[in-house]
Amino acid sequence: MSTPRNHIVVMKFGGTSVEDAKAIDRTAAIVRTRTEKGLSPVVVVSAMAKVTDQLLAAAAAAGKGDKMGALAISARLRNRHIDTAAELLDNERFTALQPVIGNEFDSLDDLLRGIAAVGELTPRTTDNVVSYGERLSSRMVAAAFDQRGLNGIHHDARESIITDSAFGKAKPLSDKIEEKLVANVLPLIDAGKTPVMGGFIGSNEQGITTTLGRGGSDYTGALIGGGLHAGAIEIWTDVNGIMTTDPRITSDALRVKTISFEEAAELAYFGAKVLHPATILPAVQKNIPVWVLNSRNAANEGTKIIAAAPPCKSPFKCIAAKRKLTIIDIVSSGMLMSHGYMKAVFDIFDRHKVVVDMVSTSEVSISLTVDSTIGLDAVIEDLSAIADVKLDPNKALICLVGEDIRGHAGISGQVFTAVSHVNVRMISQGASEINMSFMIEEADVEEAVRSLHKKFFANPDPSVFDVEARAAAQTEPATAKA
Ligand code: ADP
Ligand code: ASP
Ligand code: MG
Repeated sequence: MSTPRNHIVVMKFGGTSVEDAKAIDRTAAIVRTRTEKGLSPVVVVSAMAKVTDQLLAAAAAAGKGDKMGALAISARLRNRHIDTAAELLDNERFTALQPVIGNEFDSLDDLLRGIAAVGELTPRTTDNVVSYGERLSSRMVAAAFDQRGLNGIHHDARESIITDSAFGKAKPLSDKIEEKLVANVLPLIDAGKTPVMGGFIGSNEQGITTTLGRGGSDYTGALIGGGLHAGAIEIWTDVNGIMTTDPRITSDALRVKTISFEEAAELAYFGAKVLHPATILPAVQKNIPVWVLNSRNAANEGTKIIAAAPPCKSPFKCIAAKRKLTIIDIVSSGMLMSHGYMKAVFDIFDRHKVVVDMVSTSEVSISLTVDSTIGLDAVIEDLSAIADVKLDPNKALICLVGEDIRGHAGISGQVFTAVSHVNVRMISQGASEINMSFMIEEADVEEAVRSLHKKFFANPDPSVFDVEARAAAQTEPATAKA
Protein backbone atom coordinates (compact mmCIF):
# COMPACT_ATOMS: atom_id res chain seq x y z
CA MET A 1 0.00 0.00 0.00
CA SER A 2 1.31 3.45 -0.92
CA THR A 3 2.12 6.05 1.72
CA PRO A 4 -0.63 8.62 2.26
CA ARG A 5 0.07 12.08 0.91
CA ASN A 6 -1.83 13.93 3.59
CA HIS A 7 -1.10 17.40 2.17
CA ILE A 8 -3.13 16.60 -0.97
CA VAL A 9 -6.85 17.34 -0.91
CA VAL A 10 -8.99 16.47 -3.92
CA MET A 11 -11.79 19.02 -4.30
CA LYS A 12 -14.64 18.14 -6.70
CA PHE A 13 -17.07 20.89 -7.68
CA GLY A 14 -20.40 19.94 -9.26
CA GLY A 15 -22.26 21.71 -12.08
CA THR A 16 -23.93 24.32 -9.88
CA SER A 17 -20.56 25.20 -8.29
CA VAL A 18 -19.26 26.26 -11.74
CA GLU A 19 -22.55 27.33 -13.33
CA ASP A 20 -21.51 30.96 -13.99
CA ALA A 21 -18.73 33.48 -13.30
CA LYS A 22 -20.00 34.18 -9.77
CA ALA A 23 -20.06 30.49 -8.87
CA ILE A 24 -16.53 29.97 -10.26
CA ASP A 25 -15.37 32.95 -8.24
CA ARG A 26 -16.85 31.37 -5.08
CA THR A 27 -15.13 28.12 -5.97
CA ALA A 28 -11.77 29.91 -6.21
CA ALA A 29 -12.33 31.42 -2.76
CA ILE A 30 -13.08 27.97 -1.32
CA VAL A 31 -9.92 26.51 -2.87
CA ARG A 32 -7.92 29.39 -1.39
CA THR A 33 -9.05 28.39 2.13
CA ARG A 34 -7.24 25.10 1.55
CA THR A 35 -4.01 26.55 0.13
CA GLU A 36 -3.94 28.98 3.06
CA LYS A 37 -3.87 25.96 5.37
CA GLY A 38 -0.79 24.70 3.54
CA LEU A 39 -2.75 22.01 1.68
CA SER A 40 -2.25 21.15 -2.01
CA PRO A 41 -5.61 20.97 -3.79
CA VAL A 42 -6.28 19.00 -6.94
CA VAL A 43 -9.51 20.34 -8.39
CA VAL A 44 -12.05 18.33 -10.38
CA VAL A 45 -14.94 20.14 -12.05
CA SER A 46 -18.18 19.09 -13.69
CA ALA A 47 -19.55 20.76 -16.79
CA MET A 48 -21.38 24.03 -16.07
CA ALA A 49 -24.94 23.30 -14.81
CA LYS A 50 -27.26 21.85 -17.48
CA VAL A 51 -24.51 21.66 -20.13
CA THR A 52 -24.35 17.84 -20.12
CA ASP A 53 -28.10 17.59 -20.74
CA GLN A 54 -27.84 20.11 -23.58
CA LEU A 55 -24.93 18.28 -25.19
CA LEU A 56 -26.93 15.06 -25.03
CA ALA A 57 -29.85 16.87 -26.66
CA ALA A 58 -27.52 18.13 -29.41
CA ALA A 59 -26.18 14.60 -29.96
CA ALA A 60 -29.73 13.20 -30.11
CA ALA A 61 -30.82 15.87 -32.61
CA ALA A 62 -27.80 15.16 -34.81
CA GLY A 63 -28.47 11.42 -34.55
CA LYS A 64 -31.94 12.04 -36.00
CA GLY A 65 -30.40 13.98 -38.86
CA ASP A 66 -31.46 17.38 -37.44
CA LYS A 67 -28.18 19.17 -38.15
CA MET A 68 -29.59 22.69 -37.69
CA GLY A 69 -31.15 21.81 -34.32
CA ALA A 70 -27.89 20.31 -33.08
CA LEU A 71 -25.81 23.28 -34.25
CA ALA A 72 -28.26 25.74 -32.66
CA ILE A 73 -27.75 24.09 -29.26
CA SER A 74 -23.99 24.17 -29.74
CA ALA A 75 -24.12 27.88 -30.70
CA ARG A 76 -26.00 28.73 -27.48
CA LEU A 77 -23.44 26.79 -25.45
CA ARG A 78 -20.60 28.57 -27.24
CA ASN A 79 -22.06 31.96 -26.28
CA ARG A 80 -22.58 30.92 -22.69
CA HIS A 81 -18.96 29.76 -22.31
CA ILE A 82 -17.48 32.81 -24.06
CA ASP A 83 -19.66 35.18 -21.98
CA THR A 84 -18.67 33.45 -18.75
CA ALA A 85 -14.97 33.55 -19.68
CA ALA A 86 -15.25 37.25 -20.55
CA GLU A 87 -16.82 38.01 -17.17
CA LEU A 88 -14.35 35.84 -15.28
CA LEU A 89 -11.02 36.77 -16.85
CA ASP A 90 -8.89 39.85 -17.43
CA ASN A 91 -8.14 40.93 -20.99
CA GLU A 92 -4.89 39.07 -21.38
CA ARG A 93 -6.24 35.77 -20.10
CA PHE A 94 -9.51 36.13 -22.01
CA THR A 95 -7.60 36.80 -25.22
CA ALA A 96 -5.58 33.64 -24.63
CA LEU A 97 -8.58 31.45 -23.78
CA GLN A 98 -11.12 32.68 -26.35
CA PRO A 99 -9.50 30.87 -29.32
CA VAL A 100 -9.17 27.69 -27.24
CA ILE A 101 -12.92 27.75 -26.50
CA GLY A 102 -13.58 28.61 -30.15
CA ASN A 103 -11.51 25.66 -31.38
CA GLU A 104 -13.29 23.25 -29.05
CA PHE A 105 -16.69 24.41 -30.35
CA ASP A 106 -15.49 24.25 -33.97
CA SER A 107 -14.52 20.62 -33.49
CA LEU A 108 -17.80 19.91 -31.63
CA ASP A 109 -19.70 21.40 -34.60
CA ASP A 110 -17.72 19.22 -37.04
CA LEU A 111 -18.58 16.19 -34.94
CA LEU A 112 -22.30 17.08 -34.85
CA ARG A 113 -22.32 17.63 -38.64
CA GLY A 114 -20.68 14.22 -39.09
CA ILE A 115 -23.25 12.52 -36.85
CA ALA A 116 -26.12 14.26 -38.69
CA ALA A 117 -24.70 13.22 -42.08
CA VAL A 118 -24.54 9.57 -41.06
CA GLY A 119 -27.81 9.86 -39.13
CA GLU A 120 -26.58 7.43 -36.54
CA LEU A 121 -25.47 7.99 -32.97
CA THR A 122 -23.25 5.41 -31.26
CA PRO A 123 -22.31 5.30 -27.56
CA ARG A 124 -18.77 6.15 -28.64
CA THR A 125 -19.73 9.35 -30.48
CA THR A 126 -22.16 10.27 -27.68
CA ASP A 127 -19.27 10.15 -25.20
CA ASN A 128 -17.22 12.32 -27.50
CA VAL A 129 -20.02 14.93 -27.69
CA VAL A 130 -20.74 15.07 -23.93
CA SER A 131 -17.05 15.23 -23.06
CA TYR A 132 -16.96 18.84 -24.29
CA GLY A 133 -18.80 20.04 -21.17
CA GLU A 134 -16.00 19.07 -18.78
CA ARG A 135 -13.26 19.85 -21.30
CA LEU A 136 -14.49 23.45 -21.47
CA SER A 137 -15.37 24.05 -17.82
CA SER A 138 -11.97 22.76 -16.65
CA ARG A 139 -10.13 25.10 -19.00
CA MET A 140 -12.10 28.12 -17.81
CA VAL A 141 -11.72 27.27 -14.14
CA ALA A 142 -7.95 26.72 -14.55
CA ALA A 143 -7.58 30.17 -16.14
CA ALA A 144 -9.73 31.75 -13.42
CA PHE A 145 -7.59 30.09 -10.72
CA ASP A 146 -4.44 31.34 -12.39
CA GLN A 147 -5.75 34.90 -12.36
CA ARG A 148 -6.80 34.58 -8.70
CA GLY A 149 -3.32 33.70 -7.47
CA LEU A 150 -3.93 29.97 -7.10
CA ASN A 151 -1.43 28.86 -9.76
CA GLY A 152 -4.22 27.08 -11.61
CA ILE A 153 -3.09 24.77 -14.39
CA HIS A 154 -5.27 22.71 -16.71
CA HIS A 155 -4.64 18.99 -17.00
CA ASP A 156 -6.71 17.05 -19.55
CA ALA A 157 -8.34 14.29 -17.48
CA ARG A 158 -8.33 12.03 -20.53
CA GLU A 159 -4.55 11.73 -20.23
CA SER A 160 -4.80 10.27 -16.73
CA ILE A 161 -8.23 8.68 -16.24
CA ILE A 162 -7.75 5.49 -18.25
CA THR A 163 -10.79 3.25 -18.64
CA ASP A 164 -12.04 0.22 -20.52
CA SER A 165 -14.07 0.79 -23.70
CA ALA A 166 -17.58 0.51 -22.24
CA PHE A 167 -18.68 3.85 -23.71
CA GLY A 168 -21.32 5.61 -21.63
CA LYS A 169 -20.34 3.86 -18.42
CA ALA A 170 -16.66 3.05 -18.72
CA LYS A 171 -14.83 1.20 -15.95
CA PRO A 172 -11.67 2.88 -14.70
CA LEU A 173 -8.40 0.94 -14.77
CA SER A 174 -7.06 1.86 -11.32
CA ASP A 175 -3.46 0.73 -11.70
CA LYS A 176 -3.01 2.65 -14.97
CA ILE A 177 -4.73 5.70 -13.47
CA GLU A 178 -2.41 5.68 -10.48
CA GLU A 179 0.61 5.43 -12.77
CA LYS A 180 -0.60 8.33 -14.93
CA LEU A 181 -1.53 10.53 -11.98
CA VAL A 182 1.87 10.05 -10.39
CA ALA A 183 3.57 10.83 -13.73
CA ASN A 184 1.31 13.71 -14.86
CA VAL A 185 -0.31 15.35 -11.84
CA LEU A 186 2.08 14.85 -8.94
CA PRO A 187 4.86 16.92 -10.56
CA LEU A 188 2.40 19.80 -10.99
CA ILE A 189 1.51 19.66 -7.30
CA ASP A 190 5.17 19.44 -6.34
CA ALA A 191 5.78 22.56 -8.43
CA GLY A 192 3.19 24.46 -6.36
CA LYS A 193 0.47 24.42 -9.02
CA THR A 194 -3.24 23.74 -8.55
CA PRO A 195 -4.16 21.17 -11.23
CA VAL A 196 -7.71 21.55 -12.57
CA MET A 197 -9.23 18.55 -14.34
CA GLY A 198 -12.61 17.76 -15.85
CA GLY A 199 -14.58 15.09 -14.05
CA PHE A 200 -16.64 12.39 -15.78
CA ILE A 201 -14.32 12.02 -18.80
CA GLY A 202 -11.51 9.60 -19.52
CA SER A 203 -10.05 7.68 -22.40
CA ASN A 204 -9.51 4.04 -23.22
CA GLU A 205 -6.06 2.60 -23.83
CA GLN A 206 -6.28 3.59 -27.49
CA GLY A 207 -6.83 7.22 -26.49
CA ILE A 208 -10.53 7.30 -27.49
CA THR A 209 -12.68 9.49 -25.21
CA THR A 210 -14.95 7.68 -22.73
CA THR A 211 -17.22 8.75 -19.85
CA LEU A 212 -17.88 7.23 -16.42
CA GLY A 213 -21.70 7.57 -16.54
CA ARG A 214 -24.01 10.36 -15.40
CA GLY A 215 -22.91 12.01 -12.19
CA GLY A 216 -19.44 10.55 -12.78
CA SER A 217 -17.41 13.58 -11.70
CA ASP A 218 -17.72 12.44 -8.08
CA TYR A 219 -16.16 9.17 -9.19
CA THR A 220 -13.29 11.02 -10.90
CA GLY A 221 -12.67 12.89 -7.63
CA ALA A 222 -12.46 9.63 -5.73
CA LEU A 223 -10.25 7.98 -8.37
CA ILE A 224 -7.79 10.86 -8.14
CA GLY A 225 -7.96 10.81 -4.34
CA GLY A 226 -7.29 7.07 -4.37
CA GLY A 227 -4.63 7.21 -7.11
CA LEU A 228 -2.63 9.94 -5.37
CA HIS A 229 -3.46 8.57 -1.91
CA ALA A 230 -4.69 12.00 -0.85
CA GLY A 231 -5.45 12.97 2.75
CA ALA A 232 -9.08 13.84 1.97
CA ILE A 233 -11.66 14.00 -0.82
CA GLU A 234 -14.16 16.86 -0.79
CA ILE A 235 -17.35 16.73 -2.88
CA TRP A 236 -18.65 20.31 -3.15
CA THR A 237 -22.30 20.58 -4.18
CA ASP A 238 -25.42 22.71 -3.63
CA VAL A 239 -26.75 21.25 -0.36
CA ASN A 240 -25.29 21.20 3.15
CA GLY A 241 -24.10 17.61 2.87
CA ILE A 242 -25.78 14.23 2.86
CA MET A 243 -29.25 14.88 4.19
CA THR A 244 -31.75 12.52 5.79
CA THR A 245 -33.56 12.63 2.46
CA ASP A 246 -33.56 14.68 -0.74
CA PRO A 247 -34.26 18.23 0.49
CA ARG A 248 -36.31 18.74 -2.69
CA ILE A 249 -38.84 16.25 -1.33
CA THR A 250 -39.09 17.69 2.16
CA SER A 251 -37.59 20.85 3.61
CA ASP A 252 -37.51 18.99 6.95
CA ALA A 253 -34.43 17.08 5.71
CA LEU A 254 -31.54 17.25 8.17
CA ARG A 255 -27.82 17.16 7.54
CA VAL A 256 -26.22 13.89 8.62
CA LYS A 257 -22.96 14.83 10.38
CA THR A 258 -21.15 11.51 9.98
CA ILE A 259 -22.04 8.45 7.95
CA SER A 260 -20.18 5.21 7.23
CA PHE A 261 -18.76 4.29 3.81
CA GLU A 262 -21.17 1.37 3.71
CA GLU A 263 -24.24 3.51 4.44
CA ALA A 264 -23.23 6.18 1.93
CA ALA A 265 -22.62 3.57 -0.78
CA GLU A 266 -26.01 1.99 -0.15
CA LEU A 267 -27.71 5.38 -0.20
CA ALA A 268 -26.06 6.39 -3.47
CA TYR A 269 -26.79 3.05 -5.10
CA PHE A 270 -30.46 3.33 -4.16
CA GLY A 271 -30.99 6.70 -5.73
CA ALA A 272 -29.60 9.60 -3.67
CA LYS A 273 -28.16 11.78 -6.41
CA VAL A 274 -25.87 13.61 -3.99
CA LEU A 275 -23.13 11.02 -4.56
CA HIS A 276 -22.26 8.76 -7.52
CA PRO A 277 -22.53 5.16 -6.25
CA ALA A 278 -18.98 4.17 -7.26
CA THR A 279 -17.41 7.16 -5.50
CA ILE A 280 -16.90 5.42 -2.22
CA LEU A 281 -14.83 2.46 -3.43
CA PRO A 282 -11.44 4.11 -4.14
CA ALA A 283 -11.77 5.98 -0.84
CA VAL A 284 -12.55 2.82 1.12
CA GLN A 285 -9.60 0.98 -0.40
CA LYS A 286 -7.21 3.53 1.07
CA ASN A 287 -9.38 4.65 4.00
CA ILE A 288 -9.50 8.24 2.79
CA PRO A 289 -12.23 10.33 4.45
CA VAL A 290 -14.75 11.83 2.03
CA TRP A 291 -16.57 15.08 2.84
CA VAL A 292 -19.76 16.33 1.18
CA LEU A 293 -19.90 20.13 1.41
CA ASN A 294 -21.97 23.09 0.21
CA SER A 295 -20.20 25.55 -2.11
CA ARG A 296 -22.94 28.12 -1.41
CA ASN A 297 -22.51 27.79 2.34
CA ALA A 298 -18.83 26.97 2.78
CA ALA A 299 -18.90 27.64 6.52
CA ASN A 300 -21.16 24.64 7.04
CA GLU A 301 -19.37 21.50 8.31
CA GLY A 302 -20.95 19.17 5.74
CA THR A 303 -21.03 15.39 6.07
CA LYS A 304 -18.00 13.28 6.85
CA ILE A 305 -17.96 9.77 5.39
CA ILE A 306 -15.64 7.44 7.28
CA ALA A 307 -15.03 3.73 7.83
CA ALA A 308 -17.09 3.33 10.99
CA ALA A 309 -19.80 5.79 11.89
CA PRO A 310 -20.62 6.33 15.57
CA PRO A 311 -23.72 4.55 16.86
CA CYS A 312 -26.98 6.36 16.34
CA LYS A 313 -30.14 6.23 18.42
CA SER A 314 -32.40 6.18 15.36
CA PRO A 315 -32.49 3.04 13.22
CA PHE A 316 -32.05 4.96 9.96
CA LYS A 317 -29.69 7.64 8.71
CA CYS A 318 -31.38 8.38 5.39
CA ILE A 319 -34.27 7.64 3.07
CA ALA A 320 -33.52 7.42 -0.67
CA ALA A 321 -35.89 7.10 -3.60
CA LYS A 322 -35.00 5.67 -7.00
CA ARG A 323 -37.52 6.44 -9.73
CA LYS A 324 -38.15 5.18 -13.27
CA LEU A 325 -38.00 1.48 -12.39
CA THR A 326 -39.84 -1.36 -14.07
CA ILE A 327 -41.03 -4.52 -12.33
CA ILE A 328 -40.89 -7.74 -14.36
CA ASP A 329 -43.19 -10.49 -13.15
CA ILE A 330 -42.19 -13.95 -14.38
CA VAL A 331 -44.75 -16.69 -13.74
CA SER A 332 -44.36 -20.34 -14.66
CA SER A 333 -45.58 -23.61 -13.24
CA GLY A 334 -42.29 -25.03 -14.54
CA MET A 335 -40.69 -23.44 -11.53
CA LEU A 336 -42.61 -25.60 -9.07
CA MET A 337 -40.26 -28.15 -7.45
CA SER A 338 -37.77 -27.91 -10.30
CA HIS A 339 -34.15 -26.93 -9.98
CA GLY A 340 -32.22 -24.83 -12.45
CA TYR A 341 -35.16 -22.56 -13.22
CA MET A 342 -33.74 -19.52 -11.46
CA LYS A 343 -30.45 -20.05 -13.22
CA ALA A 344 -32.20 -20.11 -16.60
CA VAL A 345 -33.94 -16.83 -15.79
CA PHE A 346 -30.82 -15.07 -14.58
CA ASP A 347 -28.76 -16.41 -17.48
CA ILE A 348 -31.12 -14.52 -19.80
CA PHE A 349 -30.50 -11.23 -17.98
CA ASP A 350 -26.80 -11.96 -17.97
CA ARG A 351 -26.72 -12.73 -21.70
CA HIS A 352 -28.29 -9.36 -22.53
CA LYS A 353 -26.23 -7.50 -19.89
CA VAL A 354 -29.34 -6.18 -18.10
CA VAL A 355 -28.74 -5.34 -14.43
CA VAL A 356 -31.34 -6.48 -11.90
CA ASP A 357 -31.85 -4.31 -8.79
CA MET A 358 -34.20 -6.23 -6.56
CA VAL A 359 -35.62 -9.76 -6.56
CA SER A 360 -38.44 -11.51 -4.75
CA THR A 361 -39.70 -15.04 -5.36
CA SER A 362 -42.58 -17.38 -4.58
CA GLU A 363 -43.21 -21.03 -5.55
CA VAL A 364 -44.25 -20.19 -9.09
CA SER A 365 -43.16 -16.64 -9.70
CA ILE A 366 -40.16 -14.33 -9.68
CA SER A 367 -40.51 -10.57 -9.56
CA LEU A 368 -37.52 -8.42 -10.28
CA THR A 369 -36.79 -4.80 -11.02
CA VAL A 370 -34.64 -3.09 -13.62
CA ASP A 371 -33.70 0.58 -13.93
CA SER A 372 -33.18 0.77 -17.65
CA THR A 373 -35.08 -0.36 -20.69
CA ILE A 374 -31.90 -0.91 -22.71
CA GLY A 375 -31.76 -4.55 -23.80
CA LEU A 376 -35.13 -5.25 -22.18
CA ASP A 377 -36.94 -6.25 -25.39
CA ALA A 378 -34.45 -9.05 -26.00
CA VAL A 379 -34.76 -10.21 -22.37
CA ILE A 380 -38.56 -10.33 -22.59
CA GLU A 381 -38.43 -12.26 -25.84
CA ASP A 382 -36.16 -14.93 -24.33
CA LEU A 383 -38.08 -15.08 -21.04
CA SER A 384 -41.37 -15.53 -22.90
CA ALA A 385 -40.06 -18.84 -24.21
CA ILE A 386 -39.99 -20.27 -20.66
CA ALA A 387 -42.65 -18.31 -18.73
CA ASP A 388 -45.48 -15.81 -18.75
CA VAL A 389 -43.93 -12.36 -18.50
CA LYS A 390 -45.56 -9.10 -17.46
CA LEU A 391 -43.97 -5.65 -17.36
CA ASP A 392 -45.10 -3.11 -14.81
CA PRO A 393 -43.46 0.30 -15.47
CA ASN A 394 -43.45 3.64 -13.57
CA LYS A 395 -42.38 2.19 -10.26
CA ALA A 396 -40.04 3.58 -7.62
CA LEU A 397 -37.88 2.05 -4.93
CA ILE A 398 -37.86 3.54 -1.46
CA CYS A 399 -34.81 2.58 0.55
CA LEU A 400 -34.17 3.25 4.22
CA VAL A 401 -30.49 3.04 5.14
CA GLY A 402 -28.79 2.75 8.50
CA GLU A 403 -26.32 0.47 10.26
CA ASP A 404 -28.45 0.64 13.36
CA ILE A 405 -31.35 -1.24 11.76
CA ARG A 406 -29.65 -4.31 13.21
CA GLY A 407 -30.33 -3.34 16.80
CA HIS A 408 -33.99 -2.45 16.30
CA ALA A 409 -36.53 -5.25 16.56
CA GLY A 410 -39.91 -4.86 14.87
CA ILE A 411 -38.66 -2.10 12.61
CA SER A 412 -40.42 -3.30 9.47
CA GLY A 413 -43.76 -3.11 11.28
CA GLN A 414 -43.09 0.56 12.02
CA VAL A 415 -42.02 1.26 8.42
CA PHE A 416 -45.10 -0.27 6.85
CA THR A 417 -47.43 1.35 9.37
CA ALA A 418 -45.98 4.72 8.36
CA VAL A 419 -46.82 4.04 4.70
CA SER A 420 -49.99 2.00 5.24
CA HIS A 421 -51.87 4.37 2.90
CA VAL A 422 -49.47 3.61 0.02
CA ASN A 423 -49.70 0.55 -2.20
CA VAL A 424 -46.50 -1.50 -1.65
CA ARG A 425 -45.58 -3.89 -4.47
CA MET A 426 -42.37 -5.70 -3.47
CA ILE A 427 -40.35 -5.80 -0.27
CA SER A 428 -36.75 -6.71 0.45
CA GLN A 429 -34.40 -6.42 3.38
CA GLY A 430 -30.86 -6.53 2.04
CA ALA A 431 -28.48 -9.22 3.23
CA SER A 432 -26.19 -6.39 4.26
CA GLU A 433 -28.81 -5.65 6.95
CA ILE A 434 -28.28 -1.95 6.56
CA ASN A 435 -31.13 -1.24 4.20
CA MET A 436 -34.81 -1.92 3.94
CA SER A 437 -36.41 -1.32 0.61
CA PHE A 438 -39.75 -1.63 -1.08
CA MET A 439 -41.36 -0.78 -4.40
CA ILE A 440 -44.25 1.63 -4.87
CA GLU A 441 -45.90 3.59 -7.66
CA GLU A 442 -43.72 6.46 -8.87
CA ALA A 443 -46.59 8.87 -8.19
CA ASP A 444 -46.52 7.97 -4.46
CA VAL A 445 -42.81 8.74 -3.86
CA GLU A 446 -43.15 12.17 -2.28
CA GLU A 447 -46.01 11.13 -0.02
CA ALA A 448 -44.20 7.96 1.14
CA VAL A 449 -40.89 9.72 1.81
CA ARG A 450 -42.57 12.53 3.74
CA SER A 451 -44.53 10.08 5.90
CA LEU A 452 -41.44 7.99 6.66
CA HIS A 453 -39.37 11.09 7.35
CA LYS A 454 -41.94 12.39 9.80
CA LYS A 455 -42.05 9.04 11.55
CA PHE A 456 -38.32 8.36 11.85
CA PHE A 457 -36.79 11.82 12.11
CA ALA A 458 -39.21 13.55 14.47
CA ASN A 459 -36.72 13.32 17.37
CA PRO A 460 -33.33 13.15 15.67
CA ASP A 461 -30.23 12.10 17.63
CA PRO A 462 -28.26 15.40 17.87
CA SER A 463 -24.93 13.57 17.95
CA VAL A 464 -25.54 12.33 14.39
CA PHE A 465 -27.96 14.83 12.81
CA ASP A 466 -27.56 18.59 12.64
CA VAL A 467 -30.84 19.72 14.10
CA GLU A 468 -29.98 23.37 13.53
CA ALA A 469 -29.42 22.80 9.80
CA ARG A 470 -33.13 22.17 9.38
CA ALA A 471 -33.69 25.91 9.15
CA ALA A 472 -30.82 26.34 6.67
CA ALA A 473 -32.15 23.55 4.47
CA GLN A 474 -35.48 25.32 4.37
CA THR A 475 -33.93 28.46 2.93
CA GLU A 476 -31.80 26.70 0.26
CA PRO A 477 -33.17 27.80 -3.10
CA ALA A 478 -34.16 25.07 -5.54
CA THR A 479 -31.62 25.22 -8.35
CA ALA A 480 -31.12 24.12 -11.89
CA LYS A 481 -28.94 21.06 -12.32
CA ALA A 482 -26.19 19.84 -14.62
P1 ADP B 1 -23.64 18.15 -8.33
O1 ADP B 1 -24.01 18.79 -9.62
O2 ADP B 1 -22.95 19.05 -7.38
O3 ADP B 1 -22.93 16.84 -8.51
P2 ADP B 1 -26.11 16.72 -7.86
O4 ADP B 1 -27.33 17.34 -8.40
O5 ADP B 1 -25.51 15.58 -8.61
O6 ADP B 1 -25.02 17.85 -7.59
O7 ADP B 1 -26.40 16.23 -6.37
C1 ADP B 1 -26.90 17.14 -5.39
C2 ADP B 1 -28.40 16.99 -5.28
O8 ADP B 1 -28.70 15.70 -4.77
C3 ADP B 1 -29.06 17.92 -4.28
O9 ADP B 1 -29.36 19.17 -4.86
C4 ADP B 1 -30.30 17.15 -3.84
O10 ADP B 1 -31.46 17.61 -4.50
C5 ADP B 1 -30.04 15.72 -4.29
N1 ADP B 1 -30.16 14.73 -3.22
C6 ADP B 1 -30.87 13.57 -3.30
N2 ADP B 1 -30.82 12.90 -2.16
C7 ADP B 1 -30.08 13.63 -1.30
C8 ADP B 1 -29.66 13.43 0.05
N3 ADP B 1 -29.99 12.35 0.77
N4 ADP B 1 -28.87 14.38 0.60
C9 ADP B 1 -28.51 15.47 -0.11
N5 ADP B 1 -28.88 15.71 -1.38
C10 ADP B 1 -29.65 14.80 -1.97
N1 ASP C 1 -21.55 16.51 -16.07
C1 ASP C 1 -21.81 15.11 -15.85
C2 ASP C 1 -23.30 14.90 -15.60
O1 ASP C 1 -24.06 15.85 -15.56
C3 ASP C 1 -20.99 14.53 -14.75
C4 ASP C 1 -21.21 15.15 -13.39
O2 ASP C 1 -21.66 16.28 -13.29
O3 ASP C 1 -20.88 14.49 -12.39
O4 ASP C 1 -23.72 13.77 -15.47
MG1 MG D 1 -23.60 14.87 -9.02
